Amino acid sequence: MSTLVRFAPSPTGYLHVGNARTAIINWLFTMKQGGQFMLRLDDTDEERSTEEFAQAIEEDLSWLGLTWQKFDKQSDRGDRYLWGFETLKEKGRLYPCYETPEELDIKRKVQLSRGKPPIYDRAALELTDEQKQKYEAEGRVPHWRFKLEAGEIKWQDLGRGDASFQAENLTDPVLFRADMKPIYMLASTVDDIDHGVTHVIRGEDHITNTAIMIQICQALGGTPPTFAHVSMLSTLDGEGLSKRKGSLSLRQLRSEGIEPMAITSMLSKLGTSDPVEARLTMEQLVQDFDMVKFSRATPKFDLEELKKVNARLVHMMPFDQVEPRLKQMGIADIDESVWAAIRPNLESIQDLKDWWAVINGPVDPKIEDSEFAAMAANLLPQEPWDTATWGHWTQELKQQSGRKGRELFMPLRLALTGKEHGPELANLLPLIGYEKAANRLQGKQT
Ligand code: GLU
Repeated sequence: MSTLVRFAPSPTGYLHVGNARTAIINWLFTMKQGGQFMLRLDDTDEERSTEEFAQAIEEDLSWLGLTWQKFDKQSDRGDRYLWGFETLKEKGRLYPCYETPEELDIKRKVQLSRGKPPIYDRAALELTDEQKQKYEAEGRVPHWRFKLEAGEIKWQDLGRGDASFQAENLTDPVLFRADMKPIYMLASTVDDIDHGVTHVIRGEDHITNTAIMIQICQALGGTPPTFAHVSMLSTLDGEGLSKRKGSLSLRQLRSEGIEPMAITSMLSKLGTSDPVEARLTMEQLVQDFDMVKFSRATPKFDLEELKKVNARLVHMMPFDQVEPRLKQMGIADIDESVWAAIRPNLESIQDLKDWWAVINGPVDPKIEDSEFAAMAANLLPQEPWDTATWGHWTQELKQQSGRKGRELFMPLRLALTGKEHGPELANLLPLIGYEKAANRLQGKQT
């Protein structure tokens, strides 16, 4: 059977780095296997799912460089979930329950106070037909639970090795609400069967669901896919990430100038035995990828580390990769050699804007002491210039003027760039060139 792997986010918020990590692992795994990748939107939660988030997910994944050959969304598949309902009911694996949320809550509290795990007591299985009719006459509408079969549920987990649960320790899950809306575990299992999903790779928060979904899948006549559970990403403080908190979303990182390849380079290696290194292409990451490299410890996401990876990536980015981006930024006349000179000084491609504004002008020079500025202009060395030029020039100027430190450097920066802060002048000066530098030191806008 050919490999089909799906990433199945709920469109209830923007994707954050934790979701992105799961997506990246799924995608790299698929490519390594030469399989097909599917994006499935788990949008059965009508109150929280929105079209805007759905579109944002597609956009963010494409931006990351993840492509998919198949696409589906659960809101289109209601009839298949009803098939699931009929099939399980016929097989005696789905039973109606009439408890209200308050009644269930009381049951749970009583169990907990007796030191017992809060497992559903299956009282609904004991109801006679008359009792059920009586409830329905009272206006109670049933919700439906899946009847787990006693025994051991085990599987070979690609992320964790042997995994095993005793069904008696699990609660019969509700699969259909009173309004007949399917619950995620049912919908997901039907989808995985229908599409022929071969591998389900997801966060370890789903591990108990997996035990249950294996039984649901078998009851529906399917063969369970291979499962892999990966540890969840946490923040540096050890907190979990959440779409609702909006923290560390891909959109946010993108707006801060982080490159998609910096994110994929880092997230594909976090929590593995490989070092985190900047990579220029997804093909390189596919080559490095191996599920067995992922450890079970919780990896921590460090934004500062990502920024460093981003800078390293920008420093090695070839001109042809950056050229279309320059066009988008409205910077047309940087060529390969200028890019090579600026590149080592950037932390992000966005920084290039500041550089370009100073190199290309027009700059409004600020001259506080025109005598000093004139002396500086006179002492400008002849071209050709390189990064050592700044040092020679300011050394000479220091001797002639007797100025040093801020007194020496700030007027030069203000004249050459019009601003108090900005990129390193030693690197900038050769790119500004003699003519512009001399004019700016004379107070001319250029
Ligand atoms: N919609 C589920 C989630 O976001 C998908 C889990 C799965 O991959 O089965 O957690």
